[in-house]
Amino acid sequence: MVTIQGKGVSTGVAIGPLYFYRRSSGAIRRYTVPDAQAEWQRFQSAQARAIEQLGELAEKAREEAGDDAALLFETHQMMAEDPDYEESIGDLIKEQSLNAEAAVTDTAAQFAEMFASMEDEYMQARAADVKDVSRRILGILQGAEEGDINSPVPVILAADDLAPSETVQLDKSKILGFITSGGSSSSHTAILARTMGIPAIIGVADALKPEMEGREIILDGGTGQAVVEADPLIRETMLKKREEQLELKRLLETLKGQENITLDGQKVKVYCNIGTPQDVPAVKNNDGGGIGLFRSEFLYLQCDDYPDEEMQFQAYREVLSAMEGKMVIIRTLDIGADKQIGYFNLEKEENPAMGMRALRICLTRPEIFRTQLRALYRASAYGKLGIMFPMVTSLWEVQECKRACQAVAQELKDEGIPYDETGIQIGIMVETPAAVTMSDQLARAVDFFSIGTNDLTQYTLACDRQSSILGKFFDPHHPAILRAIKTVVDNAHRYGKWVGICGELAADLELTETFLAIGVDELSVSPSAVLPLRNAIRKTDVGKIRKSVMADLLFP
Ligand code: PEP
Ligand code: MG
Repeated sequence: MVTIQGKGVSTGVAIGPLYFYRRSSGAIRRYTVPDAQAEWQRFQSAQARAIEQLGELAEKAREEAGDDAALLFETHQMMAEDPDYEESIGDLIKEQSLNAEAAVTDTAAQFAEMFASMEDEYMQARAADVKDVSRRILGILQGAEEGDINSPVPVILAADDLAPSETVQLDKSKILGFITSGGSSSSHTAILARTMGIPAIIGVADALKPEMEGREIILDGGTGQAVVEADPLIRETMLKKREEQLELKRLLETLKGQENITLDGQKVKVYCNIGTPQDVPAVKNNDGGGIGLFRSEFLYLQCDDYPDEEMQFQAYREVLSAMEGKMVIIRTLDIGADKQIGYFNLEKEENPAMGMRALRICLTRPEIFRTQLRALYRASAYGKLGIMFPMVTSLWEVQECKRACQAVAQELKDEGIPYDETGIQIGIMVETPAAVTMSDQLARAVDFFSIGTNDLTQYTLACDRQSSILGKFFDPHHPAILRAIKTVVDNAHRYGKWVGICGELAADLELTETFLAIGVDELSVSPSAVLPLRNAIRKTDVGKIRKSVMADLLFP
């Protein structure tokens, strides 16, 4: 038996065989092929596909952002068919019978080194290009296997960490639990695990060994403990806990259809956070009152190229229709920082969390923004839509967003395309200290606020939310955060606007009383957290606790 201690980030006990996530861009297998000619053809068709993909990307980039943007892909295209590059790969395959993946990897390394050692800065920069092109070809060579879970039974998935783009591609029906070496509780893997109601543990460092693969592991996403090949007694205890949790779940089921109302009659809305239309059944099963945050960037993460207006429209309409008139708040594209998407070709930055991300991308690449807004406005005809903008720091940004919305509305009107002309609510995420400080001014410009405590904690405490070593320094319960929430709620209410919380803190039952006392109007949580939260709300008497909560805020 081996006991592993990590940090529990999504509650529940799961049991199953341990399975290591395989990343196609990771270690490349190297072997001798029996038929070099067939291997060469395999390379050639991957190369042709890569050139085709790059051509499509260049066209798309030209449409969206002009000739300069297209040039990058065209350069990559030329590189992919460069005779020297091709010859080097061909020699390795044909003369040494090396497999295509290894031949591409070796050639990429050799060319990158050659470019990097050149005097000319322009040529030096080609090192990154040749690596990028080679990665694309490798991805195609291995593509079908990427992220696949080749197991006949569901597994506990182990990984060093998972990027959001990897997590979204996983076949969730095959995953009983997650266990990762790195990660942090507000990383998107942890958030996704909670959305899906899958137990998860992060930060187990190097405790997982390759020889453990296939062995039975029990993990407790509440305590952060995992046990490989547990002793009978421990196994029984953990399974008993699993049974108790299932029992609690059954009890919570009885709360379905009940109001989110405190003992003294204060009501609060409990909505859900989702990443894709496929999460909607979980919202309905858990009796979510609406959707408080649809992270639209997950649509972009699932695609190899910019999703077009029609594709986005279908996805938004699907969610709005399925929610049958209940509020659906869709957040515009929030990529950058930990959510990187290759085809956006974002420049590499020293501090991406403080760089070109989210709204900043939308406001500098208006065509991308317009496409999304058109899809959103068109979808508004099918339900009750709220649109919110992430990472706001200044009033001018909100004004630009509103102008972009008005322009899109006018376009649709001119084209005779229906949209909700009166009911769309426009809001912003409050997730930067600047937005908190300016919330009195911003409140006048919007219909609602939604506080993103994940980023607000990161930026207020100057603590990277992705870091796995900051421990107690990353403290979302910090009085600075709670006071910020109070400031935002007071300012919004002063101007008759409503405020929600959609960061992970919204589901933290230790703070439910505090949020109710402050007067938060809506809490948006992962679907599996709706009923536990309802339970906590229904046990609270706000009148009784308000004074002490306020005193704690003032004199923590
Ligand atoms: C947040 O920052 O709290 C938030 C809800 O947005 P995300 O986690 O997607 O950055
Ligand atoms: Mg955020």
